[in-house]
Order: sequence, then C-alpha cells, then structure tokens
Amino acid sequence: MKKTAKKTAKSSDLAYASKNGYERISPADLRHSEEVNKLYMEFIGRAKTEREAHDEAVALLEAAGFKNMAAHEKAGTRLNAGDKVYRSCEGKTLLAAIIGSRPLEAGMHIVGGHTDSPRIDLKQNPLYENSGLALLDTHYYGGIKKYQWVTIPLALHGVFVKPDGKKVKVSIGEDPSDPVFCITDLLPHLAADQYKKTIGEAIPGEGLDVVAGSIPVDEKDRKEKFKYNVLKILRAKYGVTEADFQSAELEIVPAGHPREAGLDRSMILAYGHDDRVCAYAGLKALLDVKGIPEYTSCVLLCDKEEIGSVGSTGMAANFFENTAAELLNLTIPAYSELTLKRALSNSWMLSADVNALFDPMFPSVSEKRNSAMLNHGVCVTKYCGSRGKSGSSDASAEFMAHIRRIFDKNGVIWQTGELGKVDQGGGGTIAYLMARYGMQVIDCGVGLFSMHAPMELAGKLDIYMAYKGYLAFLKDGRK
Ligand code: MN
Ligand code: MN
Repeated sequence: MKKTAKKTAKSSDLAYASKNGYERISPADLRHSEEVNKLYMEFIGRAKTEREAHDEAVALLEAAGFKNMAAHEKAGTRLNAGDKVYRSCEGKTLLAAIIGSRPLEAGMHIVGGHTDSPRIDLKQNPLYENSGLALLDTHYYGGIKKYQWVTIPLALHGVFVKPDGKKVKVSIGEDPSDPVFCITDLLPHLAADQYKKTIGEAIPGEGLDVVAGSIPVDEKDRKEKFKYNVLKILRAKYGVTEADFQSAELEIVPAGHPREAGLDRSMILAYGHDDRVCAYAGLKALLDVKGIPEYTSCVLLCDKEEIGSVGSTGMAANFFENTAAELLNLTIPAYSELTLKRALSNSWMLSADVNALFDPMFPSVSEKRNSAMLNHGVCVTKYCGSRGKSGSSDASAEFMAHIRRIFDKNGVIWQTGELGKVDQGGGGTIAYLMARYGMQVIDCGVGLFSMHAPMELAGKLDIYMAYKGYLAFLKDGRK
C-alpha cells in the first residue's frame, strides 16, 4: 500500500477562486503600492502623448544611468553584462535594456507595452472659420466612442516641424492658467433627430471639430477674421504660420491631471491608462532591477498600437528586430544572423497591455468567472482575439506555467482575464507580432474600466502588482 501524502490538501488548495487583492496584500506591499502609484500619476500627468511618454521615459532612464545606444553603435564600444542602454525610434518608440550575465543568444526577458493612446488628431489643414467661430478640423486616432469626447475640457499637445527641421513643441491646456478647447454637442431640447441615431452615429467623425476662438481680428479688409486672429496668436506664441500645420503632429487629448478615485482612494482616474499604465509599470520595473540580471532585461515602449501597430514606429516595423541585432553586434565578437534568430526565439515576453475589467453596469458582455476583477491583481491573458480566438497569439500552457511559477514565488497578486464573452467582440495587442520570432509571449497587464474613454479607471493594487510582476519576470533566472 502506498503511503498517503504527508500533507492532505485543504479544500481551499483544491479549488481556485480569484480573490480581492486587498484581502491578502502585505502591509509592506501596500505602502510600496502607494509610492509606485504616486510616481505613476506624476508620469501620466506629464506624458499625454507618445512623444511626451518617450521623452519622460528617456529622462528617467538617463537619470538611472542608461546610455543612448547610438553612441555605442557609432563608436563600436562593446556592451558588457550590467550595462544599461536605450535606443530610440523617431522620438516615439523606445527600447531600454540591461545586459544580462548570459549571452544574448540565450534569450531576453522583454516587457513590451505601448505609449500611444486613443485621441483626436488635427488634420493637415485644420483651421477654418464658420459663423463667428475659429475651428480645428480633426481625424480621430484609435477606437474611440465619439460621443464621449464632446463637451469636456481638451488640451492640445504635439509638435510643429518647420521645413528647416526646427521643432516647436506645443502644450496648451494643462496648466491651470492655460485656456482649454472643446467640442460642442447638441442641446437635448433640439436633439429629437439625434436621439434616433445609434450611439456610433450620433456624433459623426467629421463632427469632432474643436472650437479654437471667437474674436475677430481688428483689421478692416481682412477676410476670415476669426481664423486670422487664431493664426496671429499662434505666431506670437509659437512662431508658426498656417502652412506649418502641414508638417505638424498635433493631438487633442483630455485636459487635466490624473486623480485618485473613490473615498478609499483605491483607484486612479486618468487619460491614457491604455497603455501608459503598463508602459510605466514596465519602465519602473526595469529601473528597479538591481545588479545584473541573468537574461538581458528589456522594456519596449511602442507607438501606433491603437491603429494596428503599423508605420515605422509600430511593432509591425523592424525597430525591435534591428535593435536586437545592434545589441547582439555589441555583445559578441562576430555577429551572425543565426545567433540573432536564436536570441529572438529564445526570448520570453510579457506583452504588457491593458484588459477589460468585469463591470457590474454591463454584466452581459462578460463571463464573470473568466473576467478580470478590479484590484484582484495584475491580469494574465492567455489569449484575446475575437470570434474563435481569431488574431490571438494564444500563449502555451507551458509558458503560462512559468508565469505562475514566477509570480507565485515572488508574491505577485495576479488573476487571469479575457476580453469579453465569446462572440461579444474582442481585440488584440502586440503579442502576435512578437510571437512571429518564435519567442514565448503572453499578455499581462492592468484591467481597466471605460477603456478608450477620455477618462479610464484603474485599480492601484492592479497597477502595483503589474510593476511587481514585471520586475519578478525581468529578474527571473528560468529555474
Ligand atoms: Mn492597449
Ligand atoms: Mn487600446
């Protein structure tokens, strides 16, 4: 007769149930969570666009001793274990790394998020006037519910680039003394026809024009006096002309700063959690890697995820692969493509993006047992996609087991999640683009309420556990 196991499993060990993280977080973690969340609020308060997020990230990296890889590439200076570097792509996408003690060929540990968020972009000839108003014509970016973006205070961020290359940065609407912008909506008294439309049609895309002024310029023979007055103000403030809009990237985003939410201050209400919350948590984790990690630690902050990871700064372009090649070239005596392919396919990645939380206001779109719950911890999503997992990278059970091991060993409070009920809709992340290299990749990030809305709501415990999980993952020695 076989000897029975010494320890009989308790019924609580046999069954799994997701639990609220506040019921099990340690006092030390709770204190640390407040610190990390405070830093995160400062970060997203300053980083309202992908360019600003890039610049804020570079500032944090340089303060922590990370060096621009461009200098190494130019001089051919070797990179050694423990060296900290970053590489930038067009001031939008960024990769930062700490060289590990194992060769790059053994693989990297990558946390990859994105820093672009849904917003409203100005068109290339945006300024016009109508009925005594100066207006800015726009084209929205990413999957927004257009009706949410009217009647709220908006800020204008971005750059004008002059033909001589001179760059003029713009930020209007964040300082309490700044003016803000606004898109108008129809008064309910006259909305009889609008009420009959669907939510998607009630505010059309071409109806998202921004009110930019209403004082005519004091010049007798001037045509388009309202528009001209705005041009005069822009010239005085930024030295730009109307033609300079043609080589500008100007983004309309919600004005104002992130706020703690709830009487218990357990949440953060902010613009751009998707995906600056995972981007920041990943960056902060990398900054907090002490000593030399076994596997090269990387954090990748991508652009253009919200419109399909396209373009030269999107994940579908070659920036990541090229950067891995540069890293390899600077760490081994003789570069080879085979070694690069091995480095990529031996890598592990957490695709750090947000997921939907179960919302009791909309229970019908989720299957509760498999949905992420607010403050139940960082959310690991094995697959997303839509209609039969289409477009999903669907991580392997083996890799999921590694993540369980790493998180459980390091006291990370985590949960699984899925993007809504089967056949309800769906979505994707950059995971499948990284999986092309044959690397192990799984989605892992913070759950949100009101994703893609001007103000998104996230739980502090989830944000902190994303940071803690990413740090444990970067440091892991695969044992
Ligand atoms: Mn996202
Ligand atoms: Mn998104």
